[in-house]
Amino acid sequence: AKENGRNDYQIYTSDFEHKALHKLTLHHEMMNALQNGEFLLYYQPQYDLATGRIVGLEALVRWKHPVRGLVPPGEFIPAAEESGIIVPLGEWVLQEACRQNKEWQDAGMPPIPVSVNLSVRQFTQRNLIGKIAGALERSGLEPRYLKLEITESMTMDVERALSFLQELKELGVGISIDDFGTGYSSFHYLRNFPIGSLKIDRSFVRDIGDNPNNAAIVAAIIAMAHNLQLQVIAEGVETLEQVRFLQQHGCDEMQGYYGSPPLPCAGVASLMEAVRNR
Ligand code: C2E
Ligand code: CA
Ligand code: CA
Ligand code: CA
Repeated sequence: AKENGRNDYQIYTSDFEHKALHKLTLHHEMMNALQNGEFLLYYQPQYDLATGRIVGLEALVRWKHPVRGLVPPGEFIPAAEESGIIVPLGEWVLQEACRQNKEWQDAGMPPIPVSVNLSVRQFTQRNLIGKIAGALERSGLEPRYLKLEITESMTMDVERALSFLQELKELGVGISIDDFGTGYSSFHYLRNFPIGSLKIDRSFVRDIGDNPNNAAIVAAIIAMAHNLQLQVIAEGVETLEQVRFLQQHGCDEMQGYYGSPPLPCAGVASLMEAVRNR
């Protein structure tokens, strides 16, 4: 059946083999994509809730696929994690975000930190600190203009997380806990880990207006974070109602479609220009 081409072959393979084949193809495609420069970064602005100023940018990877067009990360990050491609891809993201941020600064844009997402797979890598230091060095970006977003699951190996976070802190890089409230939460690490901010997950922010429990959770996270001297940012903010609620509860920053969707780098440059001339 194999000689009769791909379609015939697939008819005879089990669903399991079919999936394995698909994975192998995707893995191969992503390797090529990395080499061919098909990945690019979008940046989503983060706003200070008190002043309305843009105070940060989150780098979000996209795949400019020659046939499928712009592919969102939800469609390839899980596969990239499983196959291990996330390691070289994550390194590229880190390098590119630092390079771009430095370029913006050199062009006269007010300096703000860029946030980069780390995957669990990268986190378990031996020389991650060296890679981060290398990206900073090569780009010339000051460490305080880089922030890393980690998830709660990465802090489960407490010893490892603690030593990694301490090294990051010594480097001068910021650390934020992403999707806060959705994973394994321990108040232990909040007290003992050298983190700078918490990012409240979109699922809580989404129905602040019609779910009193979620509103209570958001208010409690903000209060707790502030008592622990942590900054709080809310993600997935889409409405003025949500903005008002967050402002009333003293949340520091927000990110979401209400402010701006993720933008290609040219969009960031013109937005910053427009904001400056306002
Ligand atoms: P995330 O880190 O939680 O990123 C926020 C996601 O929410 C982004 O989706 C963003 O476009 C979307 N978003 C922002 N504002 C709103 C809003 O107001 N409403 C709604 N409904 N969505 C909003 P995106 O870019 O598709 O990224 C999805 C996920 O893929 C990210 O979730 C992150 O976990 C992962 N990801 C993206 N880039 C990278 C990367 O460079 N490395 C790694 N390891 N993961 C990445
Ligand atoms: Ca994130
Ligand atoms: Ca998030
Ligand atoms: Ca999220």
